[in-house]
Amino acid sequence: MKKMTIAIDGFSSTGKSTLAKQIARALGYVYVDTGAMYRAVTYYAMQNGFIDAQHFDQAGLMARLPEVQLGFEFNADLGFAEMYLNGVNVETEIRTLEVSGFVSKIAEVSAVRAKLVEQQQAMGKDKGIVMDGRDIGTVVFPEAELKIFMTASPETRAQRRYDELKGKGQSVSYDEVLKNVQERDYIDTHREDSPLVKADDAVEIDNSHLTREEQFDAVMDLVNHYLN
Ligand code: C5P
Repeated sequence: MKKMTIAIDGFSSTGKSTLAKQIARALGYVYVDTGAMYRAVTYYAMQNGFIDAQHFDQAGLMARLPEVQLGFEFNADLGFAEMYLNGVNVETEIRTLEVSGFVSKIAEVSAVRAKLVEQQQAMGKDKGIVMDGRDIGTVVFPEAELKIFMTASPETRAQRRYDELKGKGQSVSYDEVLKNVQERDYIDTHREDSPLVKADDAVEIDNSHLTREEQFDAVMDLVNHYLN
């Protein structure tokens, strides 16, 4: 049976992880959420006083990077792998708006990117993987057999993220979520190292007006086209 590497990139809150999980489940592939890895490093930086609203001690964080151990452990009840930072499950801690507020600054640091990209490439060396992020089709797996680039309007994305955070009981306003989505779009597309861009050979999906099922069916058509 042919195995493929599927790269799903795109803007924040475009539903990349929902789609990636659906595809991975349908194919029996491993799903890797690379945003969770950047979020875990951000959480580490916050916990250790390297970043807050007033300052960012990049050199301090870089010196401690070797001791930042990231790992995924599959949770059968949830049906996906949870993020572990130095042996501790941080799946809940990394999903707050506070972490979202700092993560794009951490993701600009080349030393952070180099460390995470190396780990991501090792996880995908045997293919049979669906990975989502910002640079998967361009940097991590430029040879991926299928690349998807997801977009939707900032307002649609902010509404989705707002509903999700509210659903988890976090107290946030729609306006601050929209501001965060727009700030991350800006930093992610303008950074020097591995900016968010659509790979030339990626298929673009604007899902502003697509249901999850329609989107899943469209991507499975592309997958089956390759596998058959
Ligand atoms: O996907 P998610 O929204 O959780 O990603 C959080 C942040 O991590 C992004 O806004 C981006 O700054 C960074 N990121 C990245 N490269 C990736 C995945 C995420 O720079 N491959």
